[in-house]
Amino acid sequence: MKKNYLLTPGPTPLPAEVCEALARPIIHHRTPQFQAILKEAHEGLKYVYQTTSNVFILASSGTGAMETAVINFLSPGDTVITVEGGKFGERWTEICLAYGINCEVLKVEWGKAVDPKDIEKQLKSNPKIKAVFTTLCETSTGVVVDMQAIGAAVKDTSAILVVDAISGLGAIDLKTDAWNCDVVVSGSQKGLMLPPGLGFISVSPKAWKLSETSKCPKYYFSLKAAQKAYESTDTPWTPAIGLIIALNDAIKLMKQDGLENIFKRHNKMADATRAAMKALGLELFSPTAASDVVTAAKVPAGLDGEKLVKTMRDIHGVTIAGGQSEMKGKLIRIAHMGYIGEFDIILGISCLEKVLAQMGYKFQMGAGVKAAEEVFLK
Ligand SMILES: *Cc1c(COP(=O)(O)O)cnc(C)c1O
Repeated sequence: MKKNYLLTPGPTPLPAEVCEALARPIIHHRTPQFQAILKEAHEGLKYVYQTTSNVFILASSGTGAMETAVINFLSPGDTVITVEGGKFGERWTEICLAYGINCEVLKVEWGKAVDPKDIEKQLKSNPKIKAVFTTLCETSTGVVVDMQAIGAAVKDTSAILVVDAISGLGAIDLKTDAWNCDVVVSGSQKGLMLPPGLGFISVSPKAWKLSETSKCPKYYFSLKAAQKAYESTDTPWTPAIGLIIALNDAIKLMKQDGLENIFKRHNKMADATRAAMKALGLELFSPTAASDVVTAAKVPAGLDGEKLVKTMRDIHGVTIAGGQSEMKGKLIRIAHMGYIGEFDIILGISCLEKVLAQMGYKFQMGAGVKAAEEVFLK
């Protein structure tokens, strides 16, 4: 028998309450019964987002919400800044280019966080910039950026700040309103403890103003249509009914914990994972900007990183992530996001140790587990 454990940065494991909600019979969406559920979901998302602006629910993966954030505010020929410090930053550029939007790409070395001053400088050098596209947690590298400082840099310009918080929302602090994040996109399968299938997007008054001039083509992902429906607690198209029902149960669990406690728990799990990597002699990929949602560490020289990840998954049932694109085979990424507790981390590290030992890597057996336990004991 092989038991399966998920320690990946999306999808993340599901609480029993969410599984149970997903098993309920389907109901119709144009009913007072569903309307009450949708109203609760809209309010719950405002809590998670820390915003008073509307948060729209899309039937799409996170990337659908990213595309929504591009096509509702911009026009072909506009110029924007995209911050690229990994695979997901690159996605902003790719979506913008698909719609004929010019990108001033702010390249950041993989494993490093963007310096908010560089964004400020670039905004000053070109007053025509309409938007700044950023990533809260660059899941491909494990890096978290200082979104508060970026928000302060963008606030007094005419540009809007667009944040990909697909991994990070509901796990690490993001004060949408207080940090001046105009558009924040997210997805269901990361910090929110749901299966994939929902995209979310919040829109500030400054962003609504810009949307009035937007000429990009749009239909399914029109925020104007979404806003019109929202006013009567409705959705323009058939919503992902089952997932929205489960979303309310997930947010109920989050409210029971409280955001502050959730952030503290993620910080502790990340600290433990980082301590374990150090104790095992595995170098952190982003020591200066390591996020609390996913830890990226370098695969020791001479070891096959892809084989390491595959063996953990296929032989032992413990799924972690490897490196993407240019870091393929060179990284392991252990997620500690959403419905993950300290003993999930212990288990993941224990399995990592076993496979490292089998692959001939020299280290003190148990050192990683011990280091993590010491953090949890504090
Ligand atoms: C997972 C992830 C995405 C992609 O979301 P999909 O749901 O796969 O479309 C985008 N950005 C970041 C930072 C992510 O972690």
